[in-house]
Amino acid sequence: MQPFDLSGRVAVVTGGNGGIGLGMARGLADAGATVVIVGRDKEKSEAAAADLRRGGAKVAGIVADVTHEQSCRSVVAAAVQAFGGLDILVNNAGINIRKRPEEYTIQEWNTVLVTNLSSAFVFAQAAYPEMARGGGGKIINIGSMMSLFGASFAAPYAASKGGIVQLTRALATAWAKDNIQVNAVLPGWIDTELTRTARQQVEGLEERVRARTPVGRWGVPEDLAGIAVFLASRAADFVTGAAIPVDGGYSVQG
Ligand code: NDP
Repeated sequence: MQPFDLSGRVAVVTGGNGGIGLGMARGLADAGATVVIVGRDKEKSEAAAADLRRGGAKVAGIVADVTHEQSCRSVVAAAVQAFGGLDILVNNAGINIRKRPEEYTIQEWNTVLVTNLSSAFVFAQAAYPEMARGGGGKIINIGSMMSLFGASFAAPYAASKGGIVQLTRALATAWAKDNIQVNAVLPGWIDTELTRTARQQVEGLEERVRARTPVGRWGVPEDLAGIAVFLASRAADFVTGAAIPVDGGYSVQG
């Protein structure tokens, strides 16, 4: 029995061309899945796809902006057409705009909410009939420590990441009958482009995170590969509606 084998499964990973998304895409590819990575940056997507193919996986890169509803639906349709179905969806694309709450424009608020939360809903909605037709599927939504905690400099981001957890629970209860499991992963502080900018903007962040994290280090994108494989696999057939921190103990530090 190989409960983590993903051979023959087709996965779409939004924001799979870099950072945490690429870490998870690599895990899924190494476990045997065919992977479709989605991002806006063509060069970054091509480089990431080429890198994943070197490990022997079947990989496609699709350039799309997840803030456009029709683009999200087209990505799912293209993946199904190219590879015959969709078994795994990872809603990972995300951005942050860091400011005091009183300083955001409504456009900035909307941009963060649409990128981080609405896109996950649209992708899930588009994936649903394909997964149901195929007898089931796995949806993995990426939350954050800000799904749990407040943050003085990230009001829309925190709202979107809190929303991701509730969306996960709502979809998990609705689609359990279709054998679709929906879970959220809440990464701790991971070294990526997103947090490199954060460290430039928020003084002392690097040291504060390290001091609060029991394992004593920042995470790396590869730290998210294992949970992605687990939640995408048969081993997680009875796991649904969960929000699982992968944070080096950050969220349990008193
Ligand atoms: P990165 O900035 O490294 O990666 C973000 C990814 O999202 C890129 O692949 C980017 O691709 C894609 N993306 C962003 N906006 C869009 C868009 N409009 N359309 C399509 N793709 C888009 O960030 P991380 O890897 O750090 O973050 C990934 C996820 O993990 C996010 O949801 C983030 O909130 C979450 N997270 C990150 C943490 C961390 O510490 N790093 C902690 C907790 C959660 P492209 O540039 O090509 O558009």
